[in-house]
Amino acid sequence: MTATTDTTRDRIDDALVRLTPAQVTIAVLTIAALGFVLLFAQEPMVHDSLHTFRHAAGITCH
Ligand SMILES: [Zn+2]
Repeated sequence: MTATTDTTRDRIDDALVRLTPAQVTIAVLTIAALGFVLLFAQEPMVHDSLHTFRHAAGITCH
């Protein structure tokens, strides 16, 4: 019982350590993308920028 609890806790701690840098990266990318969109919101390339950002953020769309 105790061993199982320790293992689960170790896994949670390890997941948190791995998740934090990823969340920071996503937050930075989101802020940068928002600024980029605001700068080029009136340009046709905004669509391509959003598409590129989606792939950069690891979201597959096709
Ligand atoms: Zn795509």
